[in-house]
Amino acid sequence: MDRENSKPPGMREWDRVKLRLKREFGDSAYKSWVRPIAFDSLDNESVRLSVPTRFMRDWVLTHYAERIRTLWAGENPKVRRVRIDVDANKLGDRDLTSKNRESNYDQQFSGKQVSIQDALSAPLDKRYTFEEFVVGKPNEFAYAAAQRVADSDKVSFNPLFLYGGVGLGKTHLMHAIAWRIKLRSPNRRVVYLSAEKFMYSFIRALRNKDTVSFKEQFRSADVLMIDDVQFISGKDSTQEEFFHTFNALVDQGRQIVISADKSPSDLEEIGGRLRSRLSSGLVADLHPTTFELRLGILDAKAENLGVKVPRKVKEFLAHRITSNVRELEGALTRLTANVQLVGGDITLELAHSLLHDLLKSHERRLTIESIQKQVADHFQIRLSDMSSARRARTVARPRQIAMYLAKQLTSRSLPEIGRAFGGRDHTTVIHAVRKVEELMKADVSFSEDVELLTRMLES
Ligand code: ADP
Ligand code: MG
Repeated sequence: MDRENSKPPGMREWDRVKLRLKREFGDSAYKSWVRPIAFDSLDNESVRLSVPTRFMRDWVLTHYAERIRTLWAGENPKVRRVRIDVDANKLGDRDLTSKNRESNYDQQFSGKQVSIQDALSAPLDKRYTFEEFVVGKPNEFAYAAAQRVADSDKVSFNPLFLYGGVGLGKTHLMHAIAWRIKLRSPNRRVVYLSAEKFMYSFIRALRNKDTVSFKEQFRSADVLMIDDVQFISGKDSTQEEFFHTFNALVDQGRQIVISADKSPSDLEEIGGRLRSRLSSGLVADLHPTTFELRLGILDAKAENLGVKVPRKVKEFLAHRITSNVRELEGALTRLTANVQLVGGDITLELAHSLLHDLLKSHERRLTIESIQKQVADHFQIRLSDMSSARRARTVARPRQIAMYLAKQLTSRSLPEIGRAFGGRDHTTVIHAVRKVEELMKADVSFSEDVELLTRMLES
């Protein structure tokens, strides 16, 4: 008996449709999205298919369903409708465990990264996708805004301005937007880069007297994403160029996504014109994480790493490591590495001992204020002079030393340090650090002063 004939009605049609899809969309898209689709039934004019997850259903619906229907109608003109259900127990051709599915997904992403990677654009981290982003109250608005921008074919909010403290997920969301757009519309040109790289390319173009092609490069981007624009501040000509590029792109209906560590109105060093332009779209902030969100993130990351982490340990970490998600991840990675290398289970005791250093630095973290106090005492000046506008050498030098120490001994960012010193610019902090380094090389007694202060602060 012909084996093919023993297949349920519609099955052979489905096999042919799949073959066509494979030819049209290529191997990797086929593996990720088509192969996991299971054929359920053909019933008069409607075909029923199912996929293992809701995410896949949405994806298949928006990207492949219409094509499936057309191809199927070509095989069998009676077919009018294609239904796609979610059924976690049914899988397509091959039993794909969830790990497999993920790695196919990765392959597709990394394949794209190689082929579409733009010379101008910085590489994208393949873990930074929407699927890997854990959503909670503090970031749900920014997440929704980012998804909206990534999923709409027309320009929606322009620019989308994402801001928030260090390690709260700005870069992650930007990469996620880029991935999603590249996957949905491979022909759109997405350029993602840091503001520093933007400035660097611009300055190089100036030096090579090649600003025309510099502008063209950016102006041919469909989507331009610039990360950490607080670093554009100050440099007038770069700002001006950024402003023009920005306007040109917006006028041509291109999407722009910007991130910064503060809101547009707080970007003091950026000129008023550019600042108001930046806030003219949608401004979305990422708030500091809550205990619940940190716990959720630990759940997700532990699952990704494929390790069992007891509830108590997660709670312990979520309680203790509050500053940013990167450190939370780091702690989990260390725990995991330890059990993988040495064996045993992840326990509260292990967490305590392994994270001792990390936690210690958290509990007794040196504050900028304590540094200012110590330095003011040492040079016998008033604490208020740390933030005053006085420029006399007797106060300016100790202030520079305090800034230098804040940079060396805390994990505060340059803008944060600047702010703690009477709202100074981060470039002032950079200047102070350089100056102190210079003086330490040139002047032994100066260098001894700084070393003494360092030792006192660290003890
Ligand atoms: P930022 O750019 O705001 O400084 P990042 O986007 O680099 O922060 O995030 C730091 C790290 O924390 C990254 O590894 C990122 O994947 C992770 N992270 C941050 N927020 C989340 C989240 N909500 N869910 C999952 N991972 C997150
Ligand atoms: Mg970042």
